[in-house]
Amino acid sequence: DLFINNEWHDAISGKTFPTVNPATGEVICQVAEADVADVDKAVKAARDAFRFGSPWRRMDASDRGLLLSRLADAIERDAAYLAELETLDNGKPYAVAFSVDVPMVIKCLRYYAGWADKWEGKTIPIDGDYFCYTRHEPVGVCGQIIPWNFPLLMQAWKLGPALATGNTVVMKVAEQTPLTALYVASLIKEVGFPDGVVNIVPGMGPTAGAAIAKHMDVDKVAFTGSTEVGHLIQQASGSSNLKRVTLELGGKSPNIILSDASLEDAVEQSHFALFFNQGQCCCAGSRTYVQADVYDEFVERSVERARRRVVGNPFDLKTEQGPQVDQEQFNKILGYISVGKREGAKLMCGGGVAADRGYFIQPTVFGDVQDNMTIAREEIFGPVMQILKFKTLEEVITRANDTKYGLAAAVFTKDIDKANYLSNGLRAGTVWINCYDVFGAQAPFGGYKASGNGRELGEYGLESYTEVKTVTIKVPQKNS
Ligand code: ADP
Repeated sequence: DLFINNEWHDAISGKTFPTVNPATGEVICQVAEADVADVDKAVKAARDAFRFGSPWRRMDASDRGLLLSRLADAIERDAAYLAELETLDNGKPYAVAFSVDVPMVIKCLRYYAGWADKWEGKTIPIDGDYFCYTRHEPVGVCGQIIPWNFPLLMQAWKLGPALATGNTVVMKVAEQTPLTALYVASLIKEVGFPDGVVNIVPGMGPTAGAAIAKHMDVDKVAFTGSTEVGHLIQQASGSSNLKRVTLELGGKSPNIILSDASLEDAVEQSHFALFFNQGQCCCAGSRTYVQADVYDEFVERSVERARRRVVGNPFDLKTEQGPQVDQEQFNKILGYISVGKREGAKLMCGGGVAADRGYFIQPTVFGDVQDNMTIAREEIFGPVMQILKFKTLEEVITRANDTKYGLAAAVFTKDIDKANYLSNGLRAGTVWINCYDVFGAQAPFGGYKASGNGRELGEYGLESYTEVKTVTIKVPQKNS
């Protein structure tokens, strides 16, 4: 059901949609499908929870933090159940859901719980007989639209800063993976968030998602998903009420291996950079640039590593790679593999379907990839690695930046000067040196260029959920 005003509701239309287990293609259950009228109902609940003088607005900031802490505790208590549900609905290996996704969710909520009573304004020495200060106020009703690749984690990244700063939320979860977010909704109610502070409405993008993006009574929208839809979200804001927009979009992130790097480590990390989460990461290292003198050996070892990758039942603890999330992604990835072959990239391993049911794809490596090939320019979002050769640092900076995206990048080298030179030159929101996909709730994440705008996580993540109000008071006599 839809979670509105701390209650469970059928969709007004009565419509439901199936959510599917990607490991088998079988329907898990039917989920109420929110449409425009349900979004309206959820926005009204969120607006009422945000009214001046409401329990949520009058709550001590430290108590808002306490509610977030309690939510983290409840998630920790139910970690095994949540990880199972995530694996069932999304297909990611249970070992990863339990040891990576869920712990990161808990840490994110605890991190933002701590911020609730520490996000301070300033007193400002303006000219004249005035006392001037700023207040950090919540923006208001926040629409949050999230994707299916890390359902629980994306929910926490969005709820943490929004709730720590006192906003109310209408969240549309992805239609492929609605289940864990709805379970978390039950925990939100259990730990005592006031009615209407968080509302969760599963539904389709062009209906429920678009209704949030263009709603006249939503003050901000935070979106994570494709760059195509990011354009639509920004346009919907422009043509409605100019709501604040933050976007975390696609990427085609360069991962640069210099010839002085520890090759064994670079191969393993580059494998992880691309194949983690079935390749379904917006920041995947999906253009692996390798310096010419180690190129052949790197390719050979990467192919050997990809061949060893364990693909199979995501509930088997040995499994490294589960199915892709749905039929659509599965078809899209196989389509990119065909295009790669057709355009002349060298298929080194994989390239096909990995099981006779479910959406499993073989770990695939392409060598001899050229910058202008489709597989080097577009986001594949699957277990398909592209390896490109380069000679000089100047050349690789130019080539790495020749993309509409700018989400992440990585450099593998033992030379600190080269690491600095490259990290300064790369136009990306995150640069990892000798590591990949290292995330902390404390460190901001977000994109340059068409990878989005705004930052999530860390102290920076609070800014987009805050209006700064300047209050100036006439005083009889100012003294320094
Ligand atoms: P993907 O192609 O990886 O599924 P999307 O950008 O389509 O990425 O999806 C991310 C989220 O955006 C999902 O919750 C989806 O339902 C939602 N979405 C898709 N289309 C729209 C739209 N036109 N307006 C608002 N949200 C949308």
